[in-house]
Parts: sequence; C-alpha cells; structure tokens
Amino acid sequence: MSQQTIGFIGLGTMGEPMATRLVKAGYQVIVSDLNQDAVARLTALGATAESSPAAVASAAEIVCASLPTPDVVKLVTLGSNGIATGSKVRIFIDLSTTGPRVAKEVGAALKDKNIIAVDSPVSGGAAGAWKGTLALMVSCPDEIQAQIEDLLSNLGKVIFVGEEPGLGQTMKLVNNLVSVTALAVSSEALVMGAKAGLDPQVMMNVFNAGSGRNSATLDKLPRAVLPRTFDFGFTTALSLKDTRLCLDEAEAMGIPMPVGNAVRQVLNMTRAAYGDDADFTRIVCLIESWAGIEVPTCAKPDA
Ligand code: NAD
Repeated sequence: MSQQTIGFIGLGTMGEPMATRLVKAGYQVIVSDLNQDAVARLTALGATAESSPAAVASAAEIVCASLPTPDVVKLVTLGSNGIATGSKVRIFIDLSTTGPRVAKEVGAALKDKNIIAVDSPVSGGAAGAWKGTLALMVSCPDEIQAQIEDLLSNLGKVIFVGEEPGLGQTMKLVNNLVSVTALAVSSEALVMGAKAGLDPQVMMNVFNAGSGRNSATLDKLPRAVLPRTFDFGFTTALSLKDTRLCLDEAEAMGIPMPVGNAVRQVLNMTRAAYGDDADFTRIVCLIESWAGIEVPTCAKPDA
C-alpha cells in the first residue's frame, strides 16, 4: 500500500475507474472534475476533492489527467487556474488522447515551470480501466520512468515508447486508427453476412478461429453489438477526434491515408445519424440502415 499523494483531474468514463484503482491501491488521491457526481463517488471511497486544477497541483507532486479533448487539456494545464500555476506539482501525466502537437506544446510550456510532462495515453476501454488491464503508451525522460512506473502499473501494462513529448500520443493515434478501422470493416462484414443468412455468433466463431480475427470480432461486436447494448464505452465524438488527430498528423507528414479517410467519413455519418454521445459501435446501425436489415440479437458474453 502506498501513501503517496496523487492528483487526478477528469473523472469520466476512463478517469473514474483509474482514480478508483489508485484509491484502492492506497494512494492519497486528490480529485477535481466539473461533474460533482463523479467527484462525490470518489470522495465516498476516500479521495479528497479540490475545486480547481491549480488547487490539485498545489497539493500533489504528481498530477494525472484524463480529459476529453486537446482544448480541455490545454485549459486545465495552461489556463488561468491551471496545473502550471500549482505550487507543488513536479510531474504531469496526461492519460488523455490529445495528439502529439498539443502534447509537445503543453510539454514545452510546463518545462518552463519546471514541471515534467509525461504523455501516457491509454488503450483498452472502460472495462480495461476498471480491471487495470489498460495498455499505457508512455513517453517521458529516462530518469522519470522509475518514479512513475509503480503508480501507472496500477492501471495496466506500462510500455515506454520514447523520451520525447508526443511519441506516446502518436502511438495511441495509430493504434486507434487500426482499432476503429477494424470495427468499421467488421461491422460491414457482419451486416452483409447476416443479410445473406449467416448466424452472427457463428460468424464471430469463424472470424476468431481464422484470419479475420481482430479487436472488433474478439471484443466489441460480441460485447456491445450482438446483444444490441451499444455500450462499449467509447463515444463516436471521441473516436472521430482520435481519427481526425491521426489523419491531420499524417497529412502534415505528407502521408496520404485513403483507408483512414474512408473510416473518418463512416464516423462522421454515424455521428450525424446518432449523435456525439452515441457509442462508436453504433457504426453497425448505420450499415444496417443501408442494408435494410437488423443483425439478430445474441446474448451478452460473460464478463
Ligand atoms: P469523458 O468525457 O467520459 O470524461 C471526461 C471528464 O473530464 C468528464 O468527467 C468531464 O466532466 C471532465 N472535464 C471536462 N472538462 C473539464 C475541466 N475543464 N476540468 C475538470 N474536468 C473536466 O471521456 P473519457 O471517455 O473518460 O475519455 C477521457 C480521455 O481518454 C479522452 O481523451 C479519450 O479520448 C481517452 N480514451 C477514452 C477511451 C474510452 O474508451 N472512453 C479509451 C481510451 C482513451
């Protein structure tokens, strides 16, 4: 059990389970979020609440954040009541997906305040966050690794990908492009197979025993699409954000990504049809609407 004090800002789908795990691991966790219900759930477990990022950063040497967009990360770090104005913080660990540009910008601004920025975006969804089985793509100076590895190990598998701010973010963006592309094309295949008369569960069994196996056929489709719960825990808006960040970065590097751009449009259409907050597994509903069928419902697998 650790008695170390850790700040944690952003208690959403991912942040709440991660902060909960740190409280349960024995850390003194100081939290802040605009959503007071989420704050109350953490304080009920033993965390302490502060009213602003600056107050959190005046109470803890290490401050983590799990925030929705690059703009929010900039506001929470560099805004008027941001982490950079805290008196105690020495290490800022960003668990959000912000893209390499904002990670570099925030990293440089915090360095001027003697605060080391660590980018540590995560993969594995809400279920992985609750279970502590996330993949953490960590980029930080060598000498910082030992100071944060035990802490981050409570959240999942820690993989150091480089020393420069932004490298963890680049790894995360390409990972998520692969993940959403697998979801989009697997959704097309599922709907086509169902319309032709294949049983959806049999399709999953064949994919997963063969060369079509991917993170959608293994997890997202059986867990959130076949039972028609559409509750994987990742919104269309966040997936679109990640895809846009990735493709913008690729374009700036002079790399055309035609497949990725097609997937971006599928996400745009999903958002137009079902809204920002719709789970990104709703992609399948879009394809069903074109196919004129609904994939038959199957029971949710055991967790
Ligand atoms: P979310 O929208 O559920 O949570 C964001 C939290 O930040 C909310 O509780 C919100 O109230 C809080 N917040 C917003 N503005 C704030 C501010 N100014 N000050 C304090 N708190 C503020 O998002 P999420 O799904 O938990 O995702 C968080 C990050 O993790 C995103 O960058 C996302 O891309 C990334 N991510 C999400 C998943 C997933 O499956 N949901 C997986 C991997 C990575």
